[in-house]
Amino acid sequence: MSDHETAPAEVDDEEEIPTDHPRYQDLVTRHRIEEGVRKGITHLQGMHAEGRGSAFDYLIGEETIPSADEAERAAAAQLLLADHPVLSVNGNVAALVPGEMVELADAVGADLEVNLFNRTPERMNAIADHLREHGAEDVKGLDADAHVPGLDHERAKVDADGIHDADVVLVPLEDGDRAEALAEMGKTEIVIDLNPLSRSAQTAAIPIVDNIVRAIPNVMRHARELKGATEDELRRIVAAFDREAALEAAERAIRQGDLD
Ligand code: ATP
Repeated sequence: MSDHETAPAEVDDEEEIPTDHPRYQDLVTRHRIEEGVRKGITHLQGMHAEGRGSAFDYLIGEETIPSADEAERAAAAQLLLADHPVLSVNGNVAALVPGEMVELADAVGADLEVNLFNRTPERMNAIADHLREHGAEDVKGLDADAHVPGLDHERAKVDADGIHDADVVLVPLEDGDRAEALAEMGKTEIVIDLNPLSRSAQTAAIPIVDNIVRAIPNVMRHARELKGATEDELRRIVAAFDREAALEAAERAIRQGDLD
């Protein structure tokens, strides 16, 4: 029997998942998404997105590959260079890394904006409250007084002083249409997506092919390290990042990786 078939089917509390389980991180992730659905933060479709992510992560070896680490460093530099960076939060992101998103926003001076594919006032408020419980002071996305051109009404909604005004946006686990529409607006997009072939990853100026639970803490680590860097140094890091090479390296890891 393979490791993933020995996983405990269901636990009530994350603490019950044995830390020495070979698929520990995947079980924790799955549990957080289930909790998110239960709390009304995550849409049921978020479970399918998580399933796809989990399969890619399995193939990538459930680790941050070197090209992803480079992308995470470039993302940190790009966020530090930005005039108005915004971190977009959807139901999966809120369930998986709420505290880490709040910390990263603080570290790079970014706004946090809730942005949902399946937008309802209840879920918007539940996510904003959840982020506040994790230390967020100002959560954007609720005013919805501007829109992203090229998307249908509900999915186009953003805040005029949030994503609409941003020069750099971090959009983790974003759907392809929205990622393309934001890029069309001229935003510099940083995408986190385990599928290097997804339209979101293909659209991004900086595609990070890594699990968000590893990616956000690592972007934060780089941001802290680069805090004292000059603008020239930050620009050099961004300019040296090769998005095509990073996407190719991730695809190679998935197609040819060693599944030991
Ligand atoms: P497209 O971008 O082409 O529309 P899609 O329809 O598969 O692709 P969505 O379901 O909208 O994409 O978004 C989910 C994406 O997020 C998937 O590509 C999935 O691999 C990725 N994903 C899911 N969970 C994680 C995670 N924990 N970390 C990083 N990426 C993830």
